[in-house]
Amino acid sequence: MKKLRVLTGVTPSGVPHLGNYVGAIRPAIQASLNPEVESFLFLSDYHALIKCHEPDKVHASTQAVAATWLACGLDPERTTFYRQSDVPEVMELNWILTCNTAKGLMNRAHAYKAAVQDNAEKGQEDPDHGVEMGLFCYPMLMTADILLFNADKVPVGRDQIQHLEMARDIAGRFNHRYKPLFTLPEAQVDEQVETLLGLDGRKMSKSYGNTIPLFETEKKLQKAVNKIVTNLKEPGEPKQPNESPLFDIYKAFASQEETAEFTQMLAEGLAWGEAKKMLAAKINLELADKRERFAELTAQPAIIEDILQAGAEKARSQAQPLLAQVREAVGIRPLK
Ligand code: AMP
Repeated sequence: MKKLRVLTGVTPSGVPHLGNYVGAIRPAIQASLNPEVESFLFLSDYHALIKCHEPDKVHASTQAVAATWLACGLDPERTTFYRQSDVPEVMELNWILTCNTAKGLMNRAHAYKAAVQDNAEKGQEDPDHGVEMGLFCYPMLMTADILLFNADKVPVGRDQIQHLEMARDIAGRFNHRYKPLFTLPEAQVDEQVETLLGLDGRKMSKSYGNTIPLFETEKKLQKAVNKIVTNLKEPGEPKQPNESPLFDIYKAFASQEETAEFTQMLAEGLAWGEAKKMLAAKINLELADKRERFAELTAQPAIIEDILQAGAEKARSQAQPLLAQVREAVGIRPLK
């Protein structure tokens, strides 16, 4: 039976935090173990250029994100793990698709529309003020990423559903105009994905500055956990789970029984300070080995590079036959 192809892109934008681990890395690695699935996971470094124009940051983030996924248990034997920029076929397909996509379709993309609206709200006369072509064409590149591997499913957040619809539109137009070569990909929106709360109780996010680092030292982890907001209840006073985000974070790392026990202890007056020690210990239990592996990989980036190169070779061997058909279909052929 043909395996289901699942493709996920991860933009290297800074060092991943605990929210990325719980909401993206842990479930994706778990899903990659499904024997009925053929999984592709890539570092979308060309996408990173849309928002980041600091070369050293792009480079460092790529290394940090690759090391994080590998340290968390991504198996490059089971998953085709590659860096987007190592697969030039992506760019070639990107152009061919660009020549077969209505500009109006891109005009409707959320990210571009948001930039235009922002300009209008600021009284800017030029609606495209500050908009670079990378932002405008981003759904196009995402389409090439997906179609090049004829992915069946693409796990995405709700905000990305529109881009998957665009990818289907573009694939459909190509198939109709030339030859049915592309699978119409489907968005896979996981309603179960956990949203981890940050230190202040809002969603953990770099932009809120409320994150807990994933692979800092044990001491720094405890320090970060100590900053989680609580109320002023004294030790001995009963406490409810909803009185501090620390409960939800604990839950993301504990079994059901452990969570029930923790709830009971809080109700019996566990001090917030003690609860924070328990939380840091729980997180540490899951992350200690991974942190060590992350440090090893970070100290030897050549190991990561070798893994990525091997992944690119695997990805290219999948991409090249399809791209050859695409070139043939559009009339880019040898003269004989
Ligand atoms: P970002 O760092 O916002 O680009 O997110 C990268 C991935 O991590 C996406 O799949 C997000 O849905 C996921 N993610 C980011 N923050 C959180 C959070 N606080 N809880 C759960 N998942 C998150």
